[in-house]
This record gives sequence, C-alpha cells and structure tokens, in this order.
Amino acid sequence: MPVQKKATLLIKNIGQMITMAGPVPRLGADMKQLGLIDNGGVAVAGDEILAVGKSDEIEGRAPLAEGCVVIDAKGMVVTPGFIDPHTHPVFSMTRENEFEMRILGKSYMEIASAGGGIRASVSDLRNSPTELFIQRTSRRLDRLLAYGVTTIEAKSGYGLSTESEIRQLEIIQNLNETHPIDLVATFLGAHEVPDEYRDRRKEYADLVINEMLPKVTGAKLAEFSDIFCEEGVFDIEESRRIQQAAKNYGLGLKFHADELKSTGGAELAASMDAVSADHLVYASETGIKAMAESGTVAVLLPGTTFSLAGSTYAPARRMIEAGVTVALSTDCNPGSSHTESLPMIISLAALQLRMTAAEAISAVTVNAACAINRQDRIGRLEVGCQADIVVWEMNDYRELPYHYGVNLARMVVKKGKLLTGLGNDTSGRKTMGPV
Ligand SMILES: [Zn+2]
Repeated sequence: MPVQKKATLLIKNIGQMITMAGPVPRLGADMKQLGLIDNGGVAVAGDEILAVGKSDEIEGRAPLAEGCVVIDAKGMVVTPGFIDPHTHPVFSMTRENEFEMRILGKSYMEIASAGGGIRASVSDLRNSPTELFIQRTSRRLDRLLAYGVTTIEAKSGYGLSTESEIRQLEIIQNLNETHPIDLVATFLGAHEVPDEYRDRRKEYADLVINEMLPKVTGAKLAEFSDIFCEEGVFDIEESRRIQQAAKNYGLGLKFHADELKSTGGAELAASMDAVSADHLVYASETGIKAMAESGTVAVLLPGTTFSLAGSTYAPARRMIEAGVTVALSTDCNPGSSHTESLPMIISLAALQLRMTAAEAISAVTVNAACAINRQDRIGRLEVGCQADIVVWEMNDYRELPYHYGVNLARMVVKKGKLLTGLGNDTSGRKTMGPV
C-alpha cells in the first residue's frame, strides 16, 4: 500500500479560494468560472498540491507532517500563482530617457536616431558583463514574485548575434536554476535586423536559420521561437521562412503580431499552428477567427499601449466572443513596457479591454499556462498540480483590478515553499516575513 503523503504546508480559512478547476483553456463565457470555494483550504506535500476543499475538512483529508507550516489566511483571497507569458527581462540598461522624449512628443524615428529603441538594448547586451545582467534581472524576478507571479516566459532578442543570443539564453537558463521563479525560454533572434546587417536582410535571416537555430536547439536553450512580425521589421514572408525553420528544429512558435498595423500576423500565426500570437492590437476579423480555430493563444499586452501613451487597445471582447484563448502579460521590457506588476495589467485589462476580474484571472492562470505549454502543471489549484499559490490581502477577488497600482500580494508560495523577504514596498505594508 502506498504511504499516505503528509502535508508540509497548509493554508486554511481562505475567504475565497480560486482554484481554476474547470475547462482548460477557458473560452468565452467560461472565462468567468473561477472554481471558487468559499471558506476554503489547501494542503501541500513537498512541491505538489495534496488536497483542496473546505477549510474545516481539509485537515481531516491531509494529515500534517511534523513541522508543517500552517498559514491562517483570515478570510483573505487565494489564487494559483500568476503566470506572465511574455517578457524580455534580461537587460541592464533602463531607457527612461526615451520615455521622457516620448512624453515630450518625440517620434519613434527621432528616438531611434538618438540611439534609442531595441538597438540601444542590443548594444547594452553586447557590451556589458554577464554578471551585471544576472544581478539586475534577478532583482526584476524578485519584484515579479512579490507581485504574485510565479512563472514567466523569458525571451532573448537583445543579442542579435549568435554569440550574444546564446549568452542571453544562458543567462535565462542560469536564473531558472538559481532563482525561485520558473523561467520558460524563448529564442527571439528575429527581434530586429542588427545594424551590421541593415543592407543585407536576407543574410541575417540566413544567419538565424543556419547558425543560431541549430546552436540554440542543440544546446536545448529554448522551447519557443518568436519573431517581430511587423512592417519595417520582419514581413510576412520573412517571418514564415524563419518560423518554419524553427518549427523544423522542434520549437513551439510565438509571434509579435499586428501590434502597430494589421499585416496578417494573426493569420500567419494561426496557419502555422503557433502556440501564441502576442500584442494583436490591430488583428483583423479573419485573423481572430483563424486563431479561434487553430487554438492559438492571444497574449494581450495592454501595458505596452498604456506605456506608449497609445489610445487603441487590442480588441479583447471580440476575441473572447469569437472563442479565442485570451491571456494577459506585462511585456516587461526596458523600452515599451517597464513593469513587473501583472496586477496593474489586470487593472488596465479591466479599464481598457473591458475584461472583468474573473476573465482577467483566467487570462493570467490557465490561459497563460496554455501560452507556454504548462497547462498540465500550473495555473490551477488542483491535486497533483505544482504548489504555486498566492495569498492576497483582500476579501473579494474583484478588488484586484479595482484597487489599482498597489501590491496586494501578501504571501507567495513557490513549489510548496513560503517565500520570505519579498519587500512589497509599494503597498506601504511591512515586508513579508516568516509566518
Ligand atoms: Zn514583446
């Protein structure tokens, strides 16, 4: 007879426990289903969820191990750890100068000719020591965790040479091994054409296909391949060619698509069975329909539109109505969206995308898990799932978008361990300490 597992961590007296039990992904009206248990409790054994149920029954179902950590949630809200499925977290140089130029009315071209844009981050990556990136990215990951994010997707794309793209992916791999947060790596060698290839675009695409992809996949440094498919960056045909090669090397596909204009990016992503297409501010009706049919996740990034002071946001409601899997993300990067706050993105999703709190929570849990192929393991509080859990300082989950710009994440459990020392200074509360 198997030995019964004992609980090493127990959270009880949870006012609203959002388990997300139910269909995966959450589509259409099902996005409102949170698998909510009032007065709930959750028991964890090691790094896995052992039992989920009513608080007063949970101890009877899960005997406590010696030294079990018991947390009294005192009526607060508990959710699965949030998942941020689109980030560019590896950078050392911040670009507040560009932000200021932008608010003073300078155009993208003026900023680029003053040395700004993606190319500024490329020269930062090529010219600064690895140790500095590990240090600064690690602080960024601390902040993501403090905001209740327990898994992120992380892209390369600031190297744009074989050596520096690999270095960036190795930094992501190193942080995945040393930092509590989980990182899922995406190769984004086709983020931009680097200066030295400006007049030799095809040669750069050849380099990505014939040199970078074999090396990246040979060393198992990425699970996904992404591309900036946009007018003036990589067009539809270039994108198809590079991504087809990536697919042949076994990588899942992601696209930066239809961010600035409708160029058929959503249609291309759907036709190549991409795992996700991201941004999609100007996705066409045919693109939306094609994505619903192919099951390609729409990762929406309202923080980018907000931070660029844009007025047109992605058509989230049309996508939800069409049956597209909708996820949300910070797009954390030094240029167009410098934030680690996924809760702030939830507020923007409410106000600008007209998504309810429940829909937004579906978008950063089960649906975000689908955007990184982790839906079997994370994004839900169900028996056997990874024990990534957040206790929120609120009594009703609808406070999340409404109480904007502050950090309500009170405790974060990662792989069954209660993390301490995540200073949540934005809320003015004491930092998280041992229970
Ligand atoms: Zn991006």
